[in-house]
Amino acid sequence: RALVRPEVHRLPAYDPGADPEAVARDFHLPRVIKLSNNENPYGISPAAAAAIHRRLAKGMGRYPDPAGEALCTVLADRHCVERKRVLIGNGSENILELLCQAFINAGDTVVTQSPCFGLHEIFPLMMGARLHKVPLRADFRFDAPRWRAALDGPVKLVLVSHPCNPSGTVFSGDQLEYLIHHTPDSALLVVDEAYFEYARVDACYADALEALRHRSRPWLVLRTFSKAYGLAGLRVGYGIASHVNLIEALHRVRTPYNVNQLAQDAAIAALDDSAHLQKSARLVRGERTRITAALRDAGFRVAPSLANFLFIDTDGDALSIVRDLQRVGVIVKAWREPGYESYIRASLALPAENDAFLQALLRTRVGA
Ligand code: PMP
Repeated sequence: RALVRPEVHRLPAYDPGADPEAVARDFHLPRVIKLSNNENPYGISPAAAAAIHRRLAKGMGRYPDPAGEALCTVLADRHCVERKRVLIGNGSENILELLCQAFINAGDTVVTQSPCFGLHEIFPLMMGARLHKVPLRADFRFDAPRWRAALDGPVKLVLVSHPCNPSGTVFSGDQLEYLIHHTPDSALLVVDEAYFEYARVDACYADALEALRHRSRPWLVLRTFSKAYGLAGLRVGYGIASHVNLIEALHRVRTPYNVNQLAQDAAIAALDDSAHLQKSARLVRGERTRITAALRDAGFRVAPSLANFLFIDTDGDALSIVRDLQRVGVIVKAWREPGYESYIRASLALPAENDAFLQALLRTRVGA
């Protein structure tokens, strides 16, 4: 125990949600529906799967391209930025970890939101940062005065997910501008857009990369292939930064071969498969509207989501509801943050899976 750094000792554990195989075994269920990790129910794009087969046929005995040249070049072209301002990672969570390692000193202040994605809290704390969490308003909206107060001081890093995981909510264009304007130039502003592809089609979505692209202040936008592109199992995400030297710092702290070659090849192919992406986004939009309405009709409070999941106030003990749902083969996540003990987060999947979740959730209330 004495060997472990005190920061590490105090770290909250990341909750990946229940393991479907264990749930099937424990409750003797033939089938389990996993709605805990916001994956794409259609899975990998056929074009990406073909790219993987091609790479396997060529052989996997060599190390991957250490800098991800080919993928970064395609990403830079797509986003109209210089190649050297793009970095790929072993999932976008890898880039979150790298940026905390590269930029945070013990005692630095990191401002994030509440509720927030677990790793937005864990990685800064791991580096010994002081975390300031700005709560959403009770109606899930951006609380401008509280952000203003949080940013008025020696802040090192501002880290927000947009859409927000777990609420699925977004900032308006004005709110995003407010955040950019009030984040001191001495701080790095990181906008994690893991769910960008689901949100961008909405007329009210403010694209963080577009809002930041011409700003000279330091910023970093994160995106991933794990969600709408359906490559969660391959682990590949990317970051685009305001300045080349920010990306260079991340290169210094990463392991040399952090993204495997199958993931690099699959990501390039997935970028070209717009049919798969559109089909996935269309499914989510339709199901989001349908399931949100059904839940609200049943009396649940549901945050207005632009992502592929819903944040639902069960009005009960979320942990025990999550256990009740597991007994009938539905896995969702309970939220552990103070103030959200009655909330669950459920991913949107295929219509039949969403219906099964809805029915099971309604039954937990009848039984209560
Ligand atoms: N950021 C956010 C907001 C997320 O929700 C997730 C996945 N749950 C990630 C980053 C990490 O995704 P990945 O490492 O698979 O790219």
